[in-house]
Amino acid sequence: MHISISLAALITLASAAVIPDPELDRRQEDAVITWRDCTWEKGLLEADLDEMQALARKAAEHVDTTPELFRAFFGQEPPRTNIRDSTIKKRYTAVSNFKSKPKKSVTIRCNTDSIPACKPANHVVAADKGGPNIYICNSYWHTRKDALLRKMSPSRHPLRYGPLDEYIPIGSQLMHELTHVWFITEDHNITNPASGQIENVYGHRNSLLLARESAQKARENADNYKMFAIASYFDSSHWSVDPDRLSGDPEL
Ligand SMILES: [Zn+2]
Repeated sequence: MHISISLAALITLASAAVIPDPELDRRQEDAVITWRDCTWEKGLLEADLDEMQALARKAAEHVDTTPELFRAFFGQEPPRTNIRDSTIKKRYTAVSNFKSKPKKSVTIRCNTDSIPACKPANHVVAADKGGPNIYICNSYWHTRKDALLRKMSPSRHPLRYGPLDEYIPIGSQLMHELTHVWFITEDHNITNPASGQIENVYGHRNSLLLARESAQKARENADNYKMFAIASYFDSSHWSVDPDRLSGDPEL
């Protein structure tokens, strides 16, 4: 039997075999999730990571389906940005596959009393930028009690435009930290227009303000990913996209 195959076809076949998928390319094949000093905590954290993944899945969908909400948190795609709209969608998809296909190795650490990042009493969870550590601080367990996604149900009343900050699931806090680890995100600063004070960009209003000021910075900012994911998840509520009119905004 004679098998005829051209040299050009062979070259095509050979190169097709080595051209990396753009997404797989950025994923380490040997990436793993490691647990350190976690015992009873692990089962609870596994459930919280499921909630993080559910939030990310909704956010990935809403990148395309709710453009107004997306622009409010990430701005108009800057012409030469390294973080395109499609990049943001890929990031959310990567987070939604955290457990089954980690993009990059992560170490989840419990019993973090001696970790400086957990020293401030209000720190719930912390991370090393670029990884691999995510630190579960002591106050995580106090915060968690009232912060399970499955127990939250924001009002669907059309006249309610309260801030998203009343609905911060613990899974979204994990997402915030994971974006520091995987996507080297920042906690940017912004000047509060009311007080003139410099503040970290955390929460609904500051995330919207940052996106209005700089789409590039919003795309680099950890809490913008978190807040858009929460707004996407509770998409039957009416979240304000205007930082100047966050509560009682009758227009949305
Ligand atoms: Zn942060």
